[in-house]
Amino acid sequence: MVQNFVRNKFTVAVQASRALEPLVCPYCHRSTFKQKSDLKRHIRRHTGEKPYQCPICSYSAGRSDYVQDHLMRRHGQLPRAKRRATNPNWTLS
Ligand SMILES: [Zn+2]
Ligand SMILES: [Zn+2]
Repeated sequence: MVQNFVRNKFTVAVQASRALEPLVCPYCHRSTFKQKSDLKRHIRRHTGEKPYQCPICSYSAGRSDYVQDHLMRRHGQLPRAKRRATNPNWTLS
């Protein structure tokens, strides 16, 4: 019981300090992320996670941009106004 208590206290302390840490990728230790969402998106490159799914077929991707592009090219559906030229992170991979 005492051990459980100590562990919970430690977990809380870690979570509190985490908020002050810079945004560093735990996989490649890059730290060029302005927002937590940027870091999360980057980490998916390492984990291969593909949470975005085409509503029409079984295509899935790690970024919502890719699914929107897929929708447009494969199904001829225009996604909600998204201008590619304004996205500096755009890559054709
Ligand atoms: Zn990384
Ligand atoms: Zn599809």
